[in-house]
Amino acid sequence: MGDLIVRDLYKTISHAQKTHLVQSKEIATSCVCPYLFKMSYPFGVVGGERDYVIANTVHDAISLASPTAILENWQQGKTQNDFERIAKSIDKDSEDILQKAIANSKSRVKMEGKTPLLETFDFEVQDRFHGLLIGLAKRVMKKYPQPKRAVTEITITNVAEVQEGRIDAIFEFKDDRYGLVEWKTNDVKRASGSGVDRWQLIANFLLTNYRYTGDENNWNRCLFGSVIYYEGAYFPRLPLSEEWLSKVKKDRKFAHEILCGERPHAQKPPFCPVCDRDGESRSDCRFYREDSKQALLGNLPVDYANIRRLLLRRRYLVLDERAETHKHKFVINTIIDRLGEANALQELEKTGVINSGYRIHSINANSVTLVKKYYNDDEATLTLLEPRKIVRIIGKEDNGIPLLACVNEKGFVREVDDTKLIVDFDGNTIAERAKTQLRNLPIIIIPDEINLTRRVLEPMHRFHRLAADIMLPPEFFLGVQNNESGF
Ligand code: SF4
Repeated sequence: MGDLIVRDLYKTISHAQKTHLVQSKEIATSCVCPYLFKMSYPFGVVGGERDYVIANTVHDAISLASPTAILENWQQGKTQNDFERIAKSIDKDSEDILQKAIANSKSRVKMEGKTPLLETFDFEVQDRFHGLLIGLAKRVMKKYPQPKRAVTEITITNVAEVQEGRIDAIFEFKDDRYGLVEWKTNDVKRASGSGVDRWQLIANFLLTNYRYTGDENNWNRCLFGSVIYYEGAYFPRLPLSEEWLSKVKKDRKFAHEILCGERPHAQKPPFCPVCDRDGESRSDCRFYREDSKQALLGNLPVDYANIRRLLLRRRYLVLDERAETHKHKFVINTIIDRLGEANALQELEKTGVINSGYRIHSINANSVTLVKKYYNDDEATLTLLEPRKIVRIIGKEDNGIPLLACVNEKGFVREVDDTKLIVDFDGNTIAERAKTQLRNLPIIIIPDEINLTRRVLEPMHRFHRLAADIMLPPEFFLGVQNNESGF
Protein backbone atom coordinates (compact mmCIF):
# COMPACT_ATOMS: atom_id res chain seq x y z
CA MET A 1 0.00 0.00 0.00
CA GLY A 2 2.80 2.39 0.93
CA ASP A 3 4.40 1.66 -2.41
CA LEU A 4 1.23 2.80 -4.15
CA ILE A 5 0.96 5.98 -2.13
CA VAL A 6 4.55 6.93 -2.95
CA ARG A 7 4.26 6.12 -6.66
CA ASP A 8 0.93 7.94 -6.91
CA LEU A 9 2.41 10.96 -5.26
CA TYR A 10 5.32 11.15 -7.65
CA LYS A 11 2.80 11.14 -10.49
CA THR A 12 0.19 13.49 -9.06
CA ILE A 13 2.66 15.98 -7.65
CA SER A 14 4.29 16.27 -11.09
CA HIS A 15 1.00 17.02 -12.77
CA ALA A 16 -0.92 18.99 -10.23
CA GLN A 17 1.64 21.08 -8.46
CA LYS A 18 4.74 22.97 -9.46
CA THR A 19 7.30 21.95 -6.87
CA HIS A 20 9.13 25.25 -6.69
CA LEU A 21 11.03 26.39 -3.63
CA VAL A 22 12.28 29.94 -3.22
CA GLN A 23 15.75 30.35 -1.72
CA SER A 24 16.22 32.86 1.13
CA LYS A 25 18.81 34.67 -1.00
CA GLU A 26 16.24 35.08 -3.78
CA ILE A 27 13.60 36.37 -1.34
CA ALA A 28 16.12 38.97 -0.17
CA THR A 29 16.74 40.11 -3.73
CA SER A 30 13.05 40.30 -4.42
CA CYS A 31 12.55 42.39 -1.26
CA VAL A 32 15.12 44.88 -2.54
CA CYS A 33 13.49 45.08 -5.97
CA PRO A 34 11.06 42.58 -7.52
CA TYR A 35 12.57 43.39 -10.94
CA LEU A 36 15.92 42.20 -9.68
CA PHE A 37 14.36 38.81 -9.05
CA LYS A 38 12.68 38.76 -12.48
CA MET A 39 16.00 39.52 -14.10
CA SER A 40 17.42 36.26 -12.77
CA TYR A 41 14.17 34.32 -13.29
CA PRO A 42 12.97 34.04 -15.94
CA PHE A 43 15.40 36.26 -17.91
CA GLY A 44 18.70 34.72 -16.80
CA VAL A 45 20.80 37.84 -16.22
CA VAL A 46 23.76 37.01 -14.00
CA GLY A 47 25.97 39.47 -12.19
CA GLY A 48 29.49 40.09 -13.51
CA GLU A 49 32.41 37.81 -12.70
CA ARG A 50 33.51 38.42 -9.16
CA ASP A 51 36.18 36.80 -7.14
CA TYR A 52 34.47 34.83 -4.42
CA VAL A 53 37.45 32.66 -3.57
CA ILE A 54 38.46 34.65 -0.47
CA ALA A 55 34.86 34.79 0.77
CA ASN A 56 34.32 31.07 0.22
CA THR A 57 37.57 30.15 1.95
CA VAL A 58 36.66 32.22 5.01
CA HIS A 59 33.20 30.65 5.00
CA ASP A 60 34.71 27.16 4.83
CA ALA A 61 37.09 27.86 7.70
CA ILE A 62 34.53 29.48 9.98
CA SER A 63 32.03 26.67 9.38
CA LEU A 64 34.56 24.24 10.85
CA ALA A 65 35.80 26.59 13.57
CA SER A 66 32.30 27.39 14.92
CA PRO A 67 31.57 24.00 16.54
CA THR A 68 35.18 23.65 17.73
CA ALA A 69 37.55 26.60 18.40
CA ILE A 70 34.80 29.24 18.61
CA LEU A 71 32.67 27.28 21.06
CA GLU A 72 35.68 26.33 23.20
CA ASN A 73 36.94 29.92 23.40
CA TRP A 74 33.55 31.58 23.90
CA GLN A 75 33.96 34.27 26.57
CA GLN A 76 32.02 37.32 27.67
CA GLY A 77 34.66 40.04 27.19
CA LYS A 78 34.09 43.73 27.97
CA THR A 79 36.86 45.77 26.40
CA GLN A 80 38.51 45.99 22.98
CA ASN A 81 41.55 44.23 24.51
CA ASP A 82 39.33 41.36 25.63
CA PHE A 83 37.84 41.03 22.15
CA GLU A 84 41.30 41.00 20.60
CA ARG A 85 42.50 38.38 23.09
CA ILE A 86 39.46 36.12 22.45
CA ALA A 87 39.82 36.44 18.67
CA LYS A 88 43.54 35.63 18.90
CA SER A 89 42.89 32.46 20.95
CA ILE A 90 40.39 31.32 18.33
CA ASP A 91 42.85 32.21 15.54
CA LYS A 92 45.46 30.07 17.28
CA ASP A 93 43.18 27.08 17.80
CA SER A 94 41.88 27.34 14.22
CA GLU A 95 45.28 27.56 12.58
CA ASP A 96 45.09 24.07 11.17
CA ILE A 97 41.52 24.58 9.89
CA LEU A 98 42.51 27.85 8.22
CA GLN A 99 45.64 26.42 6.60
CA LYS A 100 43.69 23.47 5.21
CA ALA A 101 40.93 25.74 3.87
CA ILE A 102 43.55 27.94 2.17
CA ALA A 103 45.37 24.94 0.68
CA ASN A 104 42.05 23.45 -0.59
CA SER A 105 41.09 26.71 -2.28
CA LYS A 106 44.49 27.05 -3.92
CA SER A 107 44.48 23.54 -5.34
CA ARG A 108 40.93 23.98 -6.54
CA VAL A 109 41.72 27.24 -8.35
CA LYS A 110 44.68 25.50 -9.99
CA MET A 111 42.64 22.44 -10.98
CA GLU A 112 39.83 24.52 -12.45
CA GLY A 113 42.30 26.71 -14.35
CA LYS A 114 40.94 29.93 -12.81
CA THR A 115 42.88 33.21 -12.66
CA PRO A 116 45.76 32.70 -10.20
CA LEU A 117 45.13 34.09 -6.73
CA LEU A 118 46.72 37.30 -5.53
CA GLU A 119 49.91 37.05 -3.50
CA THR A 120 48.04 38.56 -0.59
CA PHE A 121 45.44 35.76 -0.64
CA ASP A 122 46.57 34.08 2.61
CA PHE A 123 46.70 37.39 4.43
CA GLU A 124 43.25 38.44 3.15
CA VAL A 125 41.67 35.18 4.34
CA GLN A 126 43.31 35.36 7.77
CA ASP A 127 42.45 39.03 8.16
CA ARG A 128 38.76 38.61 7.26
CA PHE A 129 38.51 35.57 9.52
CA HIS A 130 40.01 37.55 12.39
CA GLY A 131 37.74 40.53 11.67
CA LEU A 132 34.66 38.31 11.92
CA LEU A 133 35.86 36.89 15.22
CA ILE A 134 36.24 40.41 16.63
CA GLY A 135 32.68 41.18 15.47
CA LEU A 136 31.44 38.00 17.13
CA ALA A 137 33.28 38.61 20.41
CA LYS A 138 32.28 42.29 20.55
CA ARG A 139 28.61 41.96 19.73
CA VAL A 140 27.52 38.36 20.39
CA MET A 141 29.82 36.72 22.96
CA LYS A 142 29.68 39.87 25.08
CA LYS A 143 25.93 39.49 25.46
CA TYR A 144 25.26 35.77 25.47
CA PRO A 145 26.70 32.87 27.50
CA GLN A 146 28.61 30.00 25.95
CA PRO A 147 26.28 27.96 23.71
CA LYS A 148 26.09 24.20 24.16
CA ARG A 149 26.27 23.46 20.43
CA ALA A 150 26.86 25.08 17.03
CA VAL A 151 25.53 23.75 13.72
CA THR A 152 26.82 25.24 10.51
CA GLU A 153 25.98 25.50 6.81
CA ILE A 154 22.68 23.77 7.29
CA THR A 155 20.14 23.67 4.47
CA ILE A 156 16.59 23.98 5.80
CA THR A 157 13.61 23.23 3.57
CA ASN A 158 10.13 24.31 4.62
CA VAL A 159 8.02 22.73 1.90
CA ALA A 160 4.69 24.07 3.21
CA GLU A 161 5.97 27.65 2.95
CA VAL A 162 7.85 26.88 -0.31
CA GLN A 163 11.12 28.18 1.11
CA GLU A 164 14.64 26.81 1.35
CA GLY A 165 17.84 28.37 2.60
CA ARG A 166 21.28 27.65 3.93
CA ILE A 167 22.02 29.05 7.37
CA ASP A 168 25.65 29.91 8.08
CA ALA A 169 25.58 29.08 11.80
CA ILE A 170 23.08 28.45 14.56
CA PHE A 171 24.22 28.55 18.17
CA GLU A 172 22.09 26.49 20.59
CA PHE A 173 21.98 27.59 24.24
CA LYS A 174 21.37 25.66 27.46
CA ASP A 175 17.86 27.08 27.88
CA ASP A 176 16.90 25.55 24.50
CA ARG A 177 16.93 28.88 22.73
CA TYR A 178 18.90 29.63 19.61
CA GLY A 179 20.85 32.43 17.98
CA LEU A 180 21.23 32.65 14.24
CA VAL A 181 24.37 34.03 12.60
CA GLU A 182 25.18 35.00 9.01
CA TRP A 183 28.83 35.71 8.21
CA LYS A 184 29.46 38.55 5.78
CA THR A 185 32.64 37.37 4.09
CA ASN A 186 32.49 38.96 0.63
CA ASP A 187 34.10 42.24 1.76
CA VAL A 188 35.04 44.17 4.87
CA LYS A 189 32.14 46.63 4.65
CA ARG A 190 29.39 46.91 7.27
CA ALA A 191 26.33 44.73 6.71
CA SER A 192 23.51 46.82 5.37
CA GLY A 193 20.64 47.17 7.82
CA SER A 194 18.29 47.99 4.98
CA GLY A 195 19.30 45.93 1.95
CA VAL A 196 19.83 42.31 0.99
CA ASP A 197 21.68 41.46 4.26
CA ARG A 198 18.68 42.40 6.37
CA TRP A 199 16.10 40.64 4.21
CA GLN A 200 18.12 37.45 3.93
CA LEU A 201 18.53 37.37 7.71
CA ILE A 202 14.77 37.75 8.22
CA ALA A 203 14.01 35.04 5.64
CA ASN A 204 16.43 32.76 7.48
CA PHE A 205 14.82 33.58 10.85
CA LEU A 206 11.62 32.05 9.46
CA LEU A 207 13.45 28.87 8.47
CA THR A 208 15.18 28.60 11.82
CA ASN A 209 11.90 29.04 13.71
CA TYR A 210 10.57 26.19 11.57
CA ARG A 211 13.57 24.01 12.47
CA TYR A 212 13.07 24.44 16.22
CA THR A 213 9.29 24.67 16.56
CA GLY A 214 7.83 23.34 13.30
CA ASP A 215 6.23 26.76 12.74
CA GLU A 216 7.94 29.72 11.07
CA ASN A 217 5.79 32.13 13.10
CA ASN A 218 6.72 30.72 16.51
CA TRP A 219 9.42 32.95 18.04
CA ASN A 220 9.42 31.35 21.53
CA ARG A 221 12.89 29.85 21.22
CA CYS A 222 14.53 32.58 19.20
CA LEU A 223 17.14 34.51 21.19
CA PHE A 224 18.82 36.61 18.50
CA GLY A 225 19.83 36.80 14.86
CA SER A 226 22.74 38.73 13.49
CA VAL A 227 24.83 39.43 10.42
CA ILE A 228 28.44 39.47 11.58
CA TYR A 229 30.73 41.60 9.47
CA TYR A 230 34.34 42.71 9.77
CA GLU A 231 34.72 43.89 13.41
CA GLY A 232 30.99 44.50 13.84
CA ALA A 233 27.49 43.09 13.64
CA TYR A 234 24.03 44.04 12.49
CA PHE A 235 21.42 43.09 15.11
CA PRO A 236 17.77 43.74 14.31
CA ARG A 237 15.74 44.35 17.46
CA LEU A 238 13.37 41.51 18.38
CA PRO A 239 10.44 41.10 18.03
CA LEU A 240 10.79 42.04 14.38
CA SER A 241 8.28 44.50 13.05
CA GLU A 242 5.16 43.03 11.45
CA GLU A 243 5.84 45.26 8.48
CA TRP A 244 9.22 43.58 7.79
CA LEU A 245 7.83 40.10 8.25
CA SER A 246 4.92 40.72 5.90
CA LYS A 247 7.28 42.17 3.33
CA VAL A 248 9.41 39.03 3.35
CA LYS A 249 6.33 36.79 3.05
CA LYS A 250 4.79 38.95 0.34
CA ASP A 251 8.02 38.92 -1.67
CA ARG A 252 8.44 35.18 -1.15
CA LYS A 253 4.97 34.77 -2.66
CA PHE A 254 5.90 37.09 -5.53
CA ALA A 255 9.04 35.07 -6.31
CA HIS A 256 7.13 31.80 -6.08
CA GLU A 257 4.43 33.05 -8.44
CA ILE A 258 7.01 34.16 -10.99
CA LEU A 259 8.72 30.77 -10.83
CA CYS A 260 5.35 29.08 -11.37
CA GLY A 261 4.78 31.12 -14.53
CA GLU A 262 2.17 33.49 -13.09
CA ARG A 263 2.28 37.22 -13.71
CA PRO A 264 2.32 39.18 -10.45
CA HIS A 265 2.87 42.90 -10.86
CA ALA A 266 6.45 44.01 -10.15
CA GLN A 267 6.87 47.50 -8.78
CA LYS A 268 10.13 49.39 -8.78
CA PRO A 269 11.05 50.49 -5.23
CA PRO A 270 11.22 54.25 -4.49
CA PHE A 271 15.00 53.97 -4.39
CA CYS A 272 16.52 51.41 -6.75
CA PRO A 273 19.86 50.25 -5.31
CA VAL A 274 21.06 49.16 -8.76
CA CYS A 275 19.84 51.65 -11.35
CA ASP A 276 19.88 54.68 -9.04
CA ARG A 277 23.47 53.85 -8.19
CA ASP A 278 24.47 52.96 -11.72
CA GLY A 279 24.82 49.26 -10.88
CA GLU A 280 25.92 46.58 -13.30
CA SER A 281 22.42 45.19 -14.08
CA ARG A 282 20.97 48.58 -15.00
CA SER A 283 21.11 48.24 -18.76
CA ASP A 284 19.67 44.70 -18.73
CA CYS A 285 16.84 45.79 -16.46
CA ARG A 286 15.94 48.68 -18.74
CA PHE A 287 16.18 46.45 -21.78
CA TYR A 288 13.72 43.88 -20.43
CA ARG A 289 11.30 46.48 -19.12
CA GLU A 290 11.24 48.23 -22.49
CA ASP A 291 11.11 44.92 -24.36
CA SER A 292 8.01 43.84 -22.39
CA LYS A 293 6.37 47.24 -22.81
CA GLN A 294 6.85 47.25 -26.58
CA ALA A 295 5.63 43.64 -26.81
CA LEU A 296 2.49 44.58 -24.87
CA LEU A 297 1.85 47.54 -27.17
CA GLY A 298 2.27 45.24 -30.19
CA ASN A 299 5.11 47.39 -31.52
CA LEU A 300 7.69 44.66 -32.16
CA PRO A 301 8.49 43.45 -35.71
CA VAL A 302 6.97 40.01 -36.34
CA ASP A 303 10.26 38.08 -36.72
CA TYR A 304 11.70 39.46 -33.51
CA ALA A 305 8.39 39.01 -31.66
CA ASN A 306 8.40 35.32 -32.66
CA ILE A 307 11.94 34.76 -31.44
CA ARG A 308 11.11 36.59 -28.24
CA ARG A 309 8.03 34.45 -27.66
CA LEU A 310 9.99 31.27 -28.31
CA LEU A 311 12.73 32.28 -25.89
CA LEU A 312 10.24 33.12 -23.18
CA ARG A 313 8.45 29.81 -23.62
CA ARG A 314 11.77 27.97 -23.41
CA ARG A 315 12.71 29.89 -20.29
CA TYR A 316 9.53 28.80 -18.52
CA LEU A 317 10.23 25.19 -19.54
CA VAL A 318 13.64 25.55 -17.89
CA LEU A 319 11.91 26.83 -14.78
CA ASP A 320 9.65 23.77 -14.83
CA GLU A 321 12.80 21.64 -14.81
CA ARG A 322 14.00 23.65 -11.82
CA ALA A 323 10.80 22.66 -10.01
CA GLU A 324 11.53 18.98 -10.76
CA THR A 325 14.77 19.21 -8.77
CA HIS A 326 12.70 19.69 -5.60
CA LYS A 327 10.10 17.00 -6.29
CA HIS A 328 11.57 14.40 -3.89
CA LYS A 329 11.26 16.85 -1.00
CA PHE A 330 7.60 17.52 -1.80
CA VAL A 331 6.85 13.78 -1.93
CA ILE A 332 8.68 13.08 1.34
CA ASN A 333 7.00 16.00 3.07
CA THR A 334 3.52 15.01 1.88
CA ILE A 335 3.95 11.43 3.13
CA ILE A 336 5.19 12.69 6.49
CA ASP A 337 2.15 14.98 6.76
CA ARG A 338 -0.16 12.06 5.99
CA LEU A 339 1.37 9.25 8.03
CA GLY A 340 3.45 10.96 10.69
CA GLU A 341 7.25 10.97 10.49
CA ALA A 342 8.02 7.49 11.90
CA ASN A 343 5.50 5.63 9.68
CA ALA A 344 6.36 7.75 6.68
CA LEU A 345 10.07 6.97 6.98
CA GLN A 346 9.28 3.22 7.09
CA GLU A 347 7.11 3.44 3.99
CA LEU A 348 9.64 5.56 2.14
CA GLU A 349 12.41 3.12 3.00
CA LYS A 350 10.36 0.13 1.80
CA THR A 351 9.86 1.81 -1.56
CA GLY A 352 13.56 2.67 -1.80
CA VAL A 353 13.05 6.44 -1.83
CA ILE A 354 15.14 6.91 1.31
CA ASN A 355 17.84 4.80 2.95
CA SER A 356 18.64 4.58 6.64
CA GLY A 357 20.76 2.46 8.97
CA TYR A 358 24.08 4.02 7.97
CA ARG A 359 26.69 5.65 10.15
CA ILE A 360 29.74 7.71 9.25
CA HIS A 361 32.80 5.46 9.24
CA SER A 362 35.69 7.53 7.88
CA ILE A 363 36.70 10.35 5.59
CA ASN A 364 39.36 10.55 2.93
CA ALA A 365 39.98 13.95 1.30
CA ASN A 366 36.57 14.91 -0.15
CA SER A 367 34.85 11.52 0.34
CA VAL A 368 33.02 10.04 3.26
CA THR A 369 32.51 6.32 3.79
CA LEU A 370 29.29 5.27 5.48
CA VAL A 371 28.69 1.74 6.69
CA LYS A 372 25.40 -0.09 7.27
CA LYS A 373 24.96 -0.61 11.00
CA TYR A 374 23.55 -4.05 10.34
CA TYR A 375 23.01 -6.01 7.19
CA ASN A 376 20.71 -8.94 6.94
CA ASP A 377 20.08 -10.62 3.59
CA ASP A 378 16.50 -11.47 4.61
CA GLU A 379 15.73 -7.88 5.41
CA ALA A 380 17.39 -6.45 2.32
CA THR A 381 15.30 -3.53 1.10
CA LEU A 382 15.04 -1.91 -2.26
CA THR A 383 17.59 0.83 -2.86
CA LEU A 384 17.68 3.50 -5.52
CA LEU A 385 21.24 4.44 -4.60
CA GLU A 386 23.65 4.07 -7.47
CA PRO A 387 26.88 5.74 -8.61
CA ARG A 388 26.56 9.39 -9.67
CA LYS A 389 23.20 9.87 -7.91
CA ILE A 390 22.99 13.08 -5.92
CA VAL A 391 21.95 12.61 -2.30
CA ARG A 392 21.27 14.64 0.79
CA ILE A 393 22.78 12.95 3.85
CA ILE A 394 20.67 13.90 6.84
CA GLY A 395 21.71 13.48 10.47
CA LYS A 396 18.36 12.81 12.16
CA GLU A 397 18.25 15.00 15.25
CA ASP A 398 15.91 14.55 18.25
CA ASN A 399 13.57 17.10 19.79
CA GLY A 400 11.02 17.02 17.01
CA ILE A 401 13.18 18.79 14.43
CA PRO A 402 11.49 18.16 11.05
CA LEU A 403 13.44 15.81 8.77
CA LEU A 404 14.15 18.46 6.11
CA ALA A 405 15.45 20.87 8.75
CA CYS A 406 17.98 18.50 10.36
CA VAL A 407 21.74 18.89 9.76
CA ASN A 408 22.71 17.66 6.33
CA GLU A 409 25.20 17.77 3.46
CA LYS A 410 24.75 17.17 -0.26
CA GLY A 411 27.06 14.89 -2.28
CA PHE A 412 27.40 12.36 -5.14
CA VAL A 413 27.32 8.60 -4.66
CA ARG A 414 30.65 7.20 -5.78
CA GLU A 415 30.31 3.56 -4.75
CA VAL A 416 27.59 1.53 -3.13
CA ASP A 417 27.19 -2.09 -2.09
CA ASP A 418 25.20 -4.01 0.53
CA THR A 419 27.29 -2.85 3.44
CA LYS A 420 28.84 0.48 2.59
CA LEU A 421 28.34 3.69 0.69
CA ILE A 422 31.02 6.16 -0.44
CA VAL A 423 29.89 9.72 -1.11
CA ASP A 424 32.00 12.44 -2.75
CA PHE A 425 31.52 16.04 -1.68
CA ASP A 426 32.35 19.26 -3.44
CA GLY A 427 35.56 19.79 -1.44
CA ASN A 428 37.48 18.51 1.57
CA THR A 429 35.90 21.03 3.93
CA ILE A 430 32.42 19.66 3.32
CA ALA A 431 33.63 16.12 4.00
CA GLU A 432 35.25 17.33 7.21
CA ARG A 433 32.06 19.14 8.21
CA ALA A 434 29.96 16.06 7.43
CA LYS A 435 32.17 14.05 9.76
CA THR A 436 31.92 16.62 12.56
CA GLN A 437 28.19 17.27 12.34
CA LEU A 438 26.75 13.92 11.31
CA ARG A 439 29.08 11.53 13.16
CA ASN A 440 26.89 10.75 16.16
CA LEU A 441 23.49 10.92 14.51
CA PRO A 442 21.39 8.24 12.79
CA ILE A 443 21.78 8.85 9.06
CA ILE A 444 18.93 9.08 6.57
CA ILE A 445 19.77 9.43 2.89
CA ILE A 446 17.30 11.06 0.54
CA PRO A 447 17.57 11.69 -3.20
CA ASP A 448 18.48 15.23 -4.23
CA GLU A 449 19.30 17.10 -7.44
CA ILE A 450 21.53 19.91 -8.61
CA ASN A 451 19.92 23.08 -9.80
CA LEU A 452 21.53 24.22 -13.07
CA THR A 453 18.79 26.70 -13.99
CA ARG A 454 20.96 29.81 -13.97
CA ARG A 455 23.57 28.22 -16.22
CA VAL A 456 20.90 27.24 -18.74
CA LEU A 457 19.10 30.58 -18.67
CA GLU A 458 22.16 32.75 -19.17
CA PRO A 459 22.83 31.84 -22.83
CA MET A 460 19.16 32.58 -23.58
CA HIS A 461 19.60 36.04 -22.11
CA ARG A 462 22.65 36.65 -24.30
CA PHE A 463 20.83 35.39 -27.38
CA HIS A 464 17.78 37.57 -26.62
CA ARG A 465 19.88 40.71 -26.39
CA LEU A 466 21.81 39.81 -29.53
CA ALA A 467 18.57 39.24 -31.45
CA ALA A 468 17.32 42.66 -30.30
CA ASP A 469 20.58 44.34 -31.37
CA ILE A 470 20.42 42.81 -34.82
CA MET A 471 16.70 42.83 -35.54
CA LEU A 472 15.38 46.01 -33.96
CA PRO A 473 15.91 49.52 -35.26
CA PRO A 474 17.89 51.64 -32.77
CA GLU A 475 14.92 53.90 -31.91
CA PHE A 476 13.12 50.97 -30.28
CA PHE A 477 15.34 51.09 -27.25
CA LEU A 478 16.08 54.76 -26.98
CA GLY A 479 15.00 54.58 -23.34
CA VAL A 480 17.60 51.87 -22.70
CA GLN A 481 20.38 53.73 -24.47
CA ASN A 482 19.55 57.11 -22.98
CA ASN A 483 19.29 55.64 -19.50
CA GLU A 484 15.74 56.81 -19.06
CA SER A 485 13.87 54.94 -16.42
CA GLY A 486 11.13 53.47 -18.57
CA PHE A 487 8.65 53.46 -15.69
S1 SF4 B 1 18.05 48.03 -12.14
FE1 SF4 B 1 16.83 48.83 -10.46
S2 SF4 B 1 14.71 48.52 -11.08
FE2 SF4 B 1 15.98 47.26 -12.35
S3 SF4 B 1 16.02 45.33 -11.31
FE3 SF4 B 1 17.77 46.40 -10.70
S4 SF4 B 1 17.16 47.33 -8.84
FE4 SF4 B 1 15.33 46.78 -9.85
